[in-house]
Amino acid sequence: MQLRDAFFRHIAQTSDQPMGLEIDYASGCHLHTTDGRTFLDLISGIAVSSLGHRHPKVIDAIRGQLDRHLHVMVYGEFIQQPQSELAAELCRALPAQLSRVYFVNSGTEANEGALKLAKKSTGRSGLVAFRNSYHGDTHGSLSVTGRNIYRDPYMPLLPDVTFLDFNDMEQLGAITNETAAVILEPIQGEGGVIPADPAWLRAVRERCTETGTALIFDEIQTGFFRTGRLFAFEHYDVVPDILCMAKAMGGGMPIGAFISSDERFEAFKFDPPLNHVTTFGGHPVSCAASLATLRELQSGDYATKAENIQQLASDLLTGPGIVELRGRGAMLGLQLESADLTQRVVETCFQKGVILGWTLHSNSLIRIAPPLVIEEEELHQAFTLIRDTVRACCG
Ligand code: PMP
Repeated sequence: MQLRDAFFRHIAQTSDQPMGLEIDYASGCHLHTTDGRTFLDLISGIAVSSLGHRHPKVIDAIRGQLDRHLHVMVYGEFIQQPQSELAAELCRALPAQLSRVYFVNSGTEANEGALKLAKKSTGRSGLVAFRNSYHGDTHGSLSVTGRNIYRDPYMPLLPDVTFLDFNDMEQLGAITNETAAVILEPIQGEGGVIPADPAWLRAVRERCTETGTALIFDEIQTGFFRTGRLFAFEHYDVVPDILCMAKAMGGGMPIGAFISSDERFEAFKFDPPLNHVTTFGGHPVSCAASLATLRELQSGDYATKAENIQQLASDLLTGPGIVELRGRGAMLGLQLESADLTQRVVETCFQKGVILGWTLHSNSLIRIAPPLVIEEEELHQAFTLIRDTVRACCG
């Protein structure tokens, strides 16, 4: 059976229009197909391949771990070098109160764990989330995702969730002494690349501190230098009580984590013991890849690389059809005049070998999230192509 047939007949499809590229191999910023075409990846597998595809240091780390051990025991029982070293290095890079790491396999699992930790450590059940947010597709994360078309088919979801408008100061009184957690993305990704207003984020922090509510930052998309800092909260000078991450964390391998204080994590040890466990969370190969990714990101000048990407984008992506460029660093969204125009531009660029995309909640915005290692010349060409295509499509 041809691969294509197998894909369409036996892989569960998530839309009726998959891109359907038959991948042969990937390297740096490029995807190579079995029919000999090369594509420039301007979305990094949705904010995953920040170091490009198959970064040599990540590949070496994976190979090294393959020769030692794979899975050996459910999470939290045995001491495994890549896992413990990664936890220590992450905590070293974070404010002192973010001192303990729980490893999982994906973004949505990080949010699930964070919500449970907030509930158990506060003894409360109320959750506050924001319209237009995206936190993942398992039931808990979906319960705090702020877009009804994704929620309605799965009702009832978690009770006791209140949705507020992102960046609206007036509504923060809804966070009370009964709220276990507030969960938010410092820059909403799938909602259309919408940065939090700094004064509003500080006010959310203050309200959470006043009411004893755990503030959860979902940095699954913003983390690992995508916005020019290891985490986006560093731009804001606001520290969360629980920090969630995944995507770029593994350099292409599946891994996620939620990080909080020693005191808060006491809640997972007792009443009953083993109340939040995972078999594969913190898989040693993923941890080895993640450790290499973190070390590389911290030793190179990735902040400047991300800032240069934003600068070049704002220099080049202007003109007819373009409403606005939003975002920070290499997490950008190009707002066009209409959904129809966006679709034509994405399709034309795809035909010309550049992969772009939409965000889940917005079909008139082009997602731009290139690997941070992209060469300036190549980026220049890609942005020029996008600008000229927008112009041609609306002309
Ligand atoms: N939170 C945010 C902000 C995300 O962007 C995503 C994925 N797009 C998730 C959570 C879910 O992550 P995963 O697909 O790894 O479960």
